[in-house]
Amino acid sequence: MLELIFLGTGGGRIVMTTQMRWTGGIVLRGNDTQIHVDPGPGALVRALDLGINPQKTDAIIVSHAHLDHYGDCQILIEAMARAATKKRGVLLGSSSALVGDEQYSRIISNYHLGLLEEKQVLTPGSSFSIKGIKITATPAYHSDPSTVGLVIEEKENGARIGYTSDTAYNQSLPLFYKDCELFILCCLRPFGKPWKGHLSTDEVIPLVEEVKPSLTVLTHFGAAFLKANPEKQAKIVEKKTGIKTIAATDGMSIKLEEKEIFLKEKIDTKEKKEILVKKTGVIATQLTDFYSPK
Ligand SMILES: [Zn+2]
Repeated sequence: MLELIFLGTGGGRIVMTTQMRWTGGIVLRGNDTQIHVDPGPGALVRALDLGINPQKTDAIIVSHAHLDHYGDCQILIEAMARAATKKRGVLLGSSSALVGDEQYSRIISNYHLGLLEEKQVLTPGSSFSIKGIKITATPAYHSDPSTVGLVIEEKENGARIGYTSDTAYNQSLPLFYKDCELFILCCLRPFGKPWKGHLSTDEVIPLVEEVKPSLTVLTHFGAAFLKANPEKQAKIVEKKTGIKTIAATDGMSIKLEEKEIFLKEKIDTKEKKEILVKKTGVIATQLTDFYSPK
């Protein structure tokens, strides 16, 4: 069983600096491991608020060197290293984030590098395995040229999750997310309002049509997307593709089991399910009660 918890569904400078939506990335749990993907600003506090122990994290993945994807990386490395008392954990990420280049300086200090057991630069096609979970980097087309997307596979049950990270539309992208039952797209902009280097609702449609996941999840919303109503945007994708599509919410959890995908609006709410999708033995369910911020 794999569980994804959304510690943030916001993206871009306006949403990040106002926290109109959280920007803490996604925590993946399962197979006796915990992996934190794109821990933007607030990741530590959001995790603690939701009862997730960052000291149990075994790996941190940073898809690229933009602040909304790495802001809390160093503090989470300290947590992963058991409050900096031992060398512990793995950092995976783009070369811009881990090494730096002409455009971006490395995102972590020598001190924090020294707290890690291992680090690995991800380039499209490269992979890393941890406790039966395989992470493979996919290409992305973004203003940070070394940005990578991810395919996360649980070897035993064959669960396969695609995560685009920030990318422009490219017709080659679906090839890399083939057979993903859950497809998570960073969709910064609403229908008809494209933005260089990012996906908008209309650009998501042909990708979803080709990947044909059981469930599509939109996340990483910019201010214009939020204004255009995320649920409405998800409905547009669902109507055009015929594939169940939801707009992620802060604190939401998705559980992938052998035959089911469960959705919870917030990880500490009671499960209340409604079947939404039934496809090749996979059933997606969604909680009907909504999370109201504290
Ligand atoms: Zn970016």
